Amino acid sequence: MSEAKGSNAKRRKRILSGMRPTGRLHLGNLVGALWNWRDLQDAYDCFFMIADYHALMSEYASPAGIADASREVMIDFLSCGLDPEKSVIFRQSDVPEHAELHLILSAYTPISWLERNPTYKEQMEQLKTKDIHNYAFLGYPVLQAADIVLYKADVVPVGEDQLPHLELTREVVRRFNSLVGRNVLVEPQAKLTQSPRLLGTDRRKMSKSYGNQIDLADTPETIRKKVLSMITDPKRIRRNDPGHPEECNVCQYYRTFSPAEHDEVAERCRSAAWGCTDCKARLAEVLVELLAEPRTRRAELEAHPERLTELLADGARRAQAVARETLEEVKSLTGLGPIGA
Ligand code: SF4
Repeated sequence: MSEAKGSNAKRRKRILSGMRPTGRLHLGNLVGALWNWRDLQDAYDCFFMIADYHALMSEYASPAGIADASREVMIDFLSCGLDPEKSVIFRQSDVPEHAELHLILSAYTPISWLERNPTYKEQMEQLKTKDIHNYAFLGYPVLQAADIVLYKADVVPVGEDQLPHLELTREVVRRFNSLVGRNVLVEPQAKLTQSPRLLGTDRRKMSKSYGNQIDLADTPETIRKKVLSMITDPKRIRRNDPGHPEECNVCQYYRTFSPAEHDEVAERCRSAAWGCTDCKARLAEVLVELLAEPRTRRAELEAHPERLTELLADGARRAQAVARETLEEVKSLTGLGPIGA
């Protein structure tokens, strides 16, 4: 497997991105991140991380599921096209340099920067099911900064709503570099990603906490059941009523997952040429087919758990080789390098 090159070697631009292992991944994750990541692998040196330290920040009271969820996320990554031959795919806690750099950068981060973080304020108000009044949650943007700068990532793929997070990383980098007097950390640039917004089966935001998601690991039977339960155009009450496909979530799924069929589906809807049950039954088959190949790859990985263990170990080894180099540079500039060197 190809090795990521050290910081001084001429190299391709690097990308770091990750996902918190708080459950199985779903179609929203596929559309919002995994498809994009899969396509970036040919143009960048990519580091894809299972962010289990980040999961602990909200799941600390019942952390038993984090390890299993990390395994599931790894399987979803691999079965949806992330390729360990092209990218470094690893679990964050297997590279403890993340925790160490987090601690060092926390010394350089004013508390007021964290307190004004809009996501922090929003989550504190909205998340009622978990107590996140902990020290780690306030400081998670510092861990995020450490995640990115450890690999000297030039680019981070983000949606518009995540831009403030990245700006905070950039501020931490600028402050650190300025105080140590060397441009040792790389200030990452945003790569804005446009992905279709996929709602859940009940038309709310797709989320595990609402139970309205279609998981990548769902069986064909479960997919059919979930799709048949999807809420459609509320104005189409009887079979003969003309529909309004632009207002129907099912039609949006066609636009995303079977664009070639979209216009015909919309026309059949408007002219009441078919009913919602027929329309959803066809969509279910589209999704069953879409997830057929990932399902096969998933089954292969589940049949060979030792392969998964090897891939995780190899990803951690390759990530750590890069992370260690950055951390040593940082330590040498912050009074934490070898004594007498
Ligand atoms: S026919 Fe299809 S697109 Fe039209 S309202 Fe029913 S489910 Fe939605």
